[in-house]
Amino acid sequence: MLTTEDPANGRVPVDASWYCSPTSRRPVMARTLAKSTLKRLRALLESEQERLSRLIEEYEQELEEARLTETSSDRSPDPGSAEAGSLKFEYEKELSLERNAVDLLRKVEDALRRIDNGTYGVCEVCGGPIPVARLEVLPYAATCVNCARKA
Ligand SMILES: [Zn+2]
Repeated sequence: MLTTEDPANGRVPVDASWYCSPTSRRPVMARTLAKSTLKRLRALLESEQERLSRLIEEYEQELEEARLTETSSDRSPDPGSAEAGSLKFEYEKELSLERNAVDLLRKVEDALRRIDNGTYGVCEVCGGPIPVARLEVLPYAATCVNCARKA
């Protein structure tokens, strides 16, 4: 009869190992990126962090110089001159570049924090996985392509 075949057909041990497997209870939210991929992306983020920090320092120095120049041009007899105008333009340009760099640095640092707390690669809007191909190009991406388009 069939009962004599049951212990030998392999179904019982397979089922048992499936129930005991710790890997079948992964949290849904965690993004499982290969360690080597994560390491590579972290290195990218860290070098970007360094580059941006240096850039911001340079901008701040240039802004400081521009401020000094602007102060002295205020004392000049003709503050509305073309030269004063172009200096102001330089200053504004420098300022917006610095803001962009500060903004980007904040994103990079957020991404490094997400690597540390294990939420890196998870879209912060929909909770879906961000494809590795996107992370390779934009390692600080906090949203998937769909959510980035909607934003
Ligand atoms: Zn999303």
